[in-house]
Amino acid sequence: MKNPVKQIRLPALEEVLNYIQDVAGASSRWINWQIIRGKRHIWWETDWEVLSRWAQSIIETEERLREITQRENFLKKYIHKYHAGSESARAALPDFIEELIALDHEYVRLERIYDTLLAGCPVGPIKSGYEWIRKEPQWYLKSEWLRQDCARRGGCCGRQCKCCESPPDAMRRKGWGHCTAQCACCNDELEDGFRLTERNRRMLKPDFDLTVYPWSDYSREMFRAYIWSLD
Ligand SMILES: [Zn+2]
Ligand SMILES: [Zn+2]
Ligand SMILES: [Zn+2]
Repeated sequence: MKNPVKQIRLPALEEVLNYIQDVAGASSRWINWQIIRGKRHIWWETDWEVLSRWAQSIIETEERLREITQRENFLKKYIHKYHAGSESARAALPDFIEELIALDHEYVRLERIYDTLLAGCPVGPIKSGYEWIRKEPQWYLKSEWLRQDCARRGGCCGRQCKCCESPPDAMRRKGWGHCTAQCACCNDELEDGFRLTERNRRMLKPDFDLTVYPWSDYSREMFRAYIWSLD
């Protein structure tokens, strides 16, 4: 028989279990708290581990898609610039073009991984919520936490350029989002007098791991923003 509690997805599951724990604590006749505690461990291990591994993979894949899109944008900008430049500048063009072709293949490969991950998400509120949020291509602008996170990490949301609000390529919708270490604008030393140092490059890569328990505060915020779209 299906266990009704097991069907409830987190974080609702945690709330229900807290409630059961309180009731169990108040009424020793109703249920044995040791049994609840044991079952809680099983529920946690099965549902939560699958979900957090899934969430980690899909957020990382989204991040890689953004990196590729932003790197492409960076290269296109420089191809345009170098094309009209000196002979030595033009000599760099074949390398840039070769990299663009490789990035195009990589984008297609990651897009497939993304679709497979999405199809593999356990059915429930998380999947429907995630898909509903992503229907809006610029969903990431609605989250004040994501905007502030971009700014805190040294991304364009902390400056006047508004790059995150004007996505680079209509063919790269899955690559739209806040700055990664590959953002053309963040990498452009000439604009805004902003120089991307090694430290900033590291900062631009969000440091989170949903497969490590307990979650850090940052991991929890990442999960809320990317999966639930909550601030
Ligand atoms: Zn910018
Ligand atoms: Zn940027
Ligand atoms: Zn941003």
